Amino acid sequence: MAATKKKTANKKTAVKKAAKKKVVAKKTVAVKETSAKSPAKKSAAKKPAPNAKMTTAKVAARKPVSKTRAVKTVVKKKATPAKKSAAKKPAPKAKTTTTKVAARKPVGKAGTAKPVVKKKAGKAAPAETSRAKRTKRVTAIAPAPPKAVIPHVDAVRAVIKKLESPKSVVPVKKEEMPVDESRYRPDAIEKKWQEKWEADKLYRSAVDESRPKHYALTMLPYPSGDLHIGHWYAMTPSDARARFMRMKGFNVLFPMGFDAFGLPAENAAIKDGIHPMKRTYANIERMRLQMRSMGAMFDWEREAATCDPEYYRWTQWFFIKLYKMGLAYRKMAAVDWCPNCNTTLAREQVWGDDRHCERCGTPVIKKDLEQWFFRTTRYADELLNFDGIDWPERVKTLQTNWIGRSEGAEVQFPAIGNQSSAADDKVTVFTTRPDTLWGATFMVFSPEHPLVDKVTTDAQRAEVEAYKAQAARQSDIEREAADKEKTGVFTGGYAINPVNGERIPIWIADYVLMSYGTGAIMAVPAHDERDFAFAKKYGLPIIEVIRPETQNAGEDGKELEEAYDGAGVMVNSGPFNGTEVNEEKGRKNPGIRAVIDWLEQKGIGKESVNYRYRDWLISRQRYWGAPIPMVYCETHGWNPVPEDQLPVELPEDVEWRPTGESPLKLHPTWKNTACPVCGGPATRETDTMDTFMCSSWYHLRYLSPHYDKGPFDEKEYNYWMPVDTYTGGIEHATMHLLYTRFFHKAMRDGGVTEGNEPMLQLRNQGMVLGEDNDKMSKSKGNVIAPDLLVRRYGADTVRAYIMFFARWDLGGPWDSQGIEGTARWIRRVWTLFTDPTPPKAGAAYDGRGLRRRVHQTLRRVTHDFENFEFNTVVSSLMELLNEMHKAREAGAAGSSAWDEAREIYLKMMAPVAPFITEELWARLGKPYSIHQQKWPQVDEAAAREDVIEIPVQVNGKVRDRIVVAADAGEEEVKSAALASDHVQKFLEGREPKKVIVVKGKMVSVVA
Ligand SMILES: [Zn+2]
Ligand SMILES: [Zn+2]
Repeated sequence: MAATKKKTANKKTAVKKAAKKKVVAKKTVAVKETSAKSPAKKSAAKKPAPNAKMTTAKVAARKPVSKTRAVKTVVKKKATPAKKSAAKKPAPKAKTTTTKVAARKPVGKAGTAKPVVKKKAGKAAPAETSRAKRTKRVTAIAPAPPKAVIPHVDAVRAVIKKLESPKSVVPVKKEEMPVDESRYRPDAIEKKWQEKWEADKLYRSAVDESRPKHYALTMLPYPSGDLHIGHWYAMTPSDARARFMRMKGFNVLFPMGFDAFGLPAENAAIKDGIHPMKRTYANIERMRLQMRSMGAMFDWEREAATCDPEYYRWTQWFFIKLYKMGLAYRKMAAVDWCPNCNTTLAREQVWGDDRHCERCGTPVIKKDLEQWFFRTTRYADELLNFDGIDWPERVKTLQTNWIGRSEGAEVQFPAIGNQSSAADDKVTVFTTRPDTLWGATFMVFSPEHPLVDKVTTDAQRAEVEAYKAQAARQSDIEREAADKEKTGVFTGGYAINPVNGERIPIWIADYVLMSYGTGAIMAVPAHDERDFAFAKKYGLPIIEVIRPETQNAGEDGKELEEAYDGAGVMVNSGPFNGTEVNEEKGRKNPGIRAVIDWLEQKGIGKESVNYRYRDWLISRQRYWGAPIPMVYCETHGWNPVPEDQLPVELPEDVEWRPTGESPLKLHPTWKNTACPVCGGPATRETDTMDTFMCSSWYHLRYLSPHYDKGPFDEKEYNYWMPVDTYTGGIEHATMHLLYTRFFHKAMRDGGVTEGNEPMLQLRNQGMVLGEDNDKMSKSKGNVIAPDLLVRRYGADTVRAYIMFFARWDLGGPWDSQGIEGTARWIRRVWTLFTDPTPPKAGAAYDGRGLRRRVHQTLRRVTHDFENFEFNTVVSSLMELLNEMHKAREAGAAGSSAWDEAREIYLKMMAPVAPFITEELWARLGKPYSIHQQKWPQVDEAAAREDVIEIPVQVNGKVRDRIVVAADAGEEEVKSAALASDHVQKFLEGREPKKVIVVKGKMVSVVA
């Protein structure tokens, strides 16, 4: 998601060099391979895992080394799960051109060979020379057979997809099992099972009307090129939850994709000239490999990347839909502009009191530009309604505050300037406190207010102009800063307070912004802190109109020391004197209600609602985004591109010049097109869309990523939607999470989606901090690299530790000592299941006790999975493991309780550590796969404690503890309590007046 898209690493030169060398190395390898036998080795050599890059490069550098040796080295060093899929790569049939590969698209499903691809392949013939140059870089991304010409990035993409296609996986061979069967070897186990799962399509999720569905969605990453621990922290517990739901009997969809448009790739292109498309697809490829090492149950056949033309065709289609619904419009507006990113920003992307760019931290400036907006405000009220969705309170509060609905009234103040004609002008003011209208003693305009010139008198003009000029030089930040001293100047003009006919002076002040309400406020210094400070500074009148009820009449006329905004009664307010005012907002407040009714009756004003929320600015002056599919004709204005001409594709041959205008605008021909109305010459919109538009609907594209008759296949939609569980970061509360709700509701009204909400349940994870308790960042050197951890401990341990070390919703600092503990636990699990050591002689094993512990743990773990409490899932499993080791030492092996315990243990652990549990399950001789097993049922009888101890009070003091059967009834417990000698002693022979039994907790005897 965009907010996590902070600057990507830029190891350009090193990578480029390595890549170049790699090409050589690979060619060598490819030749060798044609005669090689093992498909596994072949794949490894052909497609070195990212971390093998340097090795490969080195091999290439030591050129004279024999071919055979080169192959060996690469194979040995390969560290991530091998891609069997690579075996099917075009290399062996060296003659196959990539163009053909692209045409017979790999994903295999009917209808996946997109016209896009076909078109590309056909178009590819000309312009060989310019493309030949690019071929080198492309080759670095996905090695091509010698001599093959890669005519277009689509072809690269097709090759990449092919490499990833689970279909081309060759089944696991037994001989590849590690030699030493008794040792825990995560590297061997994880690779083996990952390949088998893919070959078997274990995680393929298809519509199945006979089973309940569960759509589990985790936010899609931006393809920065490197999966960091934050991704693991978001994704692996989400995966564990999805696996749990699957074992609970749901047909689970857990897809993954890439939020692939955006600035980092484009900024990098400006620096090093590598095309964002190539970089992005290379990064996607690398991240897919890293994600596979997680062992997550992603259904890769549903993968979608927002930068694919077959994806953004529909992003554009949705834009046009919104346009036709009147929800997309173009207007000239003062928009926020990041001078560093060289683009406009949505209001949501401007952060903090200093109004900085969400992405790069640069303070934003205002620019007047014609831009495209989505009318999100039309849904403001509906977006405030969270009925029927289970979302965290924090997110609901953030969204509510962001929308900032306030109830009040709009009141019209006639204005009088130096010319009498100005009296015709009415200034509209929004106030949440119409009950204080009688205390409005002056009015303040934003310096940019259109009436300023008109009301300013000649005497004041010079001063007003000077003030306006200084205000224009300041940023909104400076103007609004709370600690800044309020300044302003009198315009010489007046307004008439419509409630009492008083002439009140009009001032301008920079703390009033045009973007606030109407750009003009009525100032009530007695009851507003800021107005109070302003009035004090400039000697303006302060009239009290709400008096606290506690205040004596004798204090009347006493000068106020500060503004009062509490409850009281209205005073100095004409017909409303004595009316009660409480602290409620809007009509719930009797004072406000009375005044609104009166204003409406008099025709001076009306009830009104104001929102802080603004329409969504979606134009971006950048290249790497979905082109806005609109065309401008001198005669016919703006019109959408006809649907059959979608997608409007990005041209490849653009120049990267950070000019502040879209590179599309600088392209010599791209923008020239025909008007959809008259066919005459017309110009394309050269801005692209905010990437949040792409991510507003990705959950729909996952349903049928290659479908070409619409944005999604309705059959899939009807089965899978809405999303049942959505997981991701809370930083998206007022951006993505609000946009996607708007999008769904707008499309519901457009007849595309159904229901009111796209995501029923939302859970946010916290953040993993560095060991120094600081946010991880490259500059601080506190970044934890998941790939290294996986190599050292195995993915299962990393997954388990991520779930164990902190409450998932809170997050916390990483602890390298801590992960050792988790690694130990995993190894002890391995030992428990594989150690052949016989039990100690003469040990007494308690089968009932073991079953009780197992089923009690199962009850807890089930509850904790349901509630996203992963840390206690792991700790419960750790505790149970100790019990099981004891039971084993005591001779439990061979008993039915022991068999049951082992089986339940692995099933409970399976969502946390999918690899080791699959391996041990197989070693137990159980049917493949553990991940297709049903979640075990708690045997309540087994879980029940046999006996319990309960305290007995006599007249409020504990006098004894009795031991009763855990399931004993009230009468039984009562008589046991009364039978106690101690209790009898304190009863002193009396009959108890009352005996209260709190089940399982306590008996209270009242003597
Ligand atoms: Zn910026
Ligand atoms: Zn026209």
